[in-house]
Amino acid sequence: MLEKMEILDVEKLIGDFEVMTKDAENVQRQTLKMILEENGCAEYLQNMGLNGRTDPESFKACVPLVTHKDLESYIQRVADGAFSPILTRKPITTISLSSGTTQGKPKFVPFNDELMETTLQIYRTSFAFRNREFPIENGKALQFIYSSKQSKTKGGLFAGTATTNVFRNSQFKKAMTAMQSECCSPDEVIFGPDFHQSLYCHLLCGLIFHEEIQLISSTFAHSIVLAFRTFEKVWEELCDDIREGVLTSRITLPSVRSAMAKLLKPNPELADLIENKCSRLSHWYGLIPELFPNVKYIYGIMTGSMEPYLKKLRHYAADVPLISADYGSSEGWIGANINPSLPPESTTYAVLPNIGYFEFIPLKENVEEHMQENGNVSFLSTVPKPVGLTEVKVGEEYEVIITSFAGLYRYRLGDVVKVMGFHNSTPELKFVCRRNLMLTINIDKNTEKDLQLAVEEAAKLIAEEKLEVIDFSSNVDVSTDPGHYVIFWEISGEVSDEVLKECCNCLDRSFVDAGYVSSRKVNAIGPLELRVVWKGTFHKILDHYLGLGAVISQFKTPRCVGPTNNKVLQILCDNVVKNYFSTAF
Ligand code: AMP
Repeated sequence: MLEKMEILDVEKLIGDFEVMTKDAENVQRQTLKMILEENGCAEYLQNMGLNGRTDPESFKACVPLVTHKDLESYIQRVADGAFSPILTRKPITTISLSSGTTQGKPKFVPFNDELMETTLQIYRTSFAFRNREFPIENGKALQFIYSSKQSKTKGGLFAGTATTNVFRNSQFKKAMTAMQSECCSPDEVIFGPDFHQSLYCHLLCGLIFHEEIQLISSTFAHSIVLAFRTFEKVWEELCDDIREGVLTSRITLPSVRSAMAKLLKPNPELADLIENKCSRLSHWYGLIPELFPNVKYIYGIMTGSMEPYLKKLRHYAADVPLISADYGSSEGWIGANINPSLPPESTTYAVLPNIGYFEFIPLKENVEEHMQENGNVSFLSTVPKPVGLTEVKVGEEYEVIITSFAGLYRYRLGDVVKVMGFHNSTPELKFVCRRNLMLTINIDKNTEKDLQLAVEEAAKLIAEEKLEVIDFSSNVDVSTDPGHYVIFWEISGEVSDEVLKECCNCLDRSFVDAGYVSSRKVNAIGPLELRVVWKGTFHKILDHYLGLGAVISQFKTPRCVGPTNNKVLQILCDNVVKNYFSTAF
């Protein structure tokens, strides 16, 4: 009876969403009013001269657009335990460390109950739409989730990654139960301090409950691929554990061992079953449905920098649907995936108009391009003129600006999105890329997406030999004259020099940006260099970030390693096996 009461009313959630999105403009006004009324007394807003006004026009006129850098000193004072209200009226008690894989270091952002509530609202909304199309029965979820230890800031605030703050919040578990998505692993595994040990135990728990598993998920799809790549290496050990009912000695943490001992009983039949299944598979194709016969779908963020992992995920998943999770950041949530039957490549996110106040900087109109006599492009005006949520235009690209319930006002998130359509009056956004991730030497501009497309194209040449690019990154090398693009590849096996030379040429040709092509033709940019790295190099990068306190749940491989990211560049450069220069131009 209790269980029934806890289950979410999916139709009501969808009904509420429909009502709210039909009136998005008004809801945005109300949301801004609530944020400003609540926090108007905070020092940051007091200095802006709003004098109690809460309308969007005054807000935009008084409050400047900011980046994280502009707010750093305020957030630091919050973290140091300042007594007066600085960014919000109520004291901030928790700090999120954003994954920081793009800047080379984690950054602090405020986290509070209101942010937790909006997180749950997004989770519930997309669950409602998902469950209508892919209903799950009472069972368990194999969730590859990990949580870093919460530390304390100088001022005594809890600090952890945003996912840690969410997973550790008492509301999280209740919400997962209500969504019939309870994690099959015990808390000791989720909150264990050693990622490798937690991953092994997640796999083991999944196998123990293999018939009950209804869905497999993680925050970002990368963790799911990593989990099954690991499974390929440790499956025999997992089977031994299940056969004997004794956990491998590689799990050394006493809390994890004792939690696992409660679940692990000798089960030779299950061990035989898994062994049979594994030995019958060809190249591990369809591993997921083989192991988990009742799995309904695979869930995690699969767009943006996660797209390169989709091929491998599909290989493991066979015909199990892949559904991308929602769109948000440590700074705040933005949109929910309300069309779960679309493949991840076409996923859009409908903005929830009551979880923050949103503005969008049009990328086209803000840049007046002027052709100079020599044909170079210069940027004369880059003054951003943001538009409101309901004013965006279909087909246009924008940079997202958030005003949140957690003390960020007109904050440039740095993400580029494209408006694909509207759901009622709220836009449906496609994630395009991080704005600052750009390969550029002179007039060329290539984004993360352009890099991804080039890598996909060139990877086709090694796919013919049944090999794949496990992971990749890039760097602009301006130590040579002229500077050139460097692409790092980790490959799943041996490839001949001849094919790799062709891959290198193909990468060079695949950057079709006019600035790049014209610069290459006149040698203003040098030949692209492909550097192949040892197997396991990207794992070293992951370990490096884990060492910095990042958690795997939020990890995104840095696709472009800038000068601020010395250490990662060093790992890449130290592990180069061979390199090739393009002869495409
Ligand atoms: P973090 O601050 O570590 O939580 O990372 C947030 C960033 O991850 C966002 O600003 C996006 O760049 C990226 N991200 C989050 N959700 C998605 C999504 N659904 N699709 C693509 N990228 C996403």
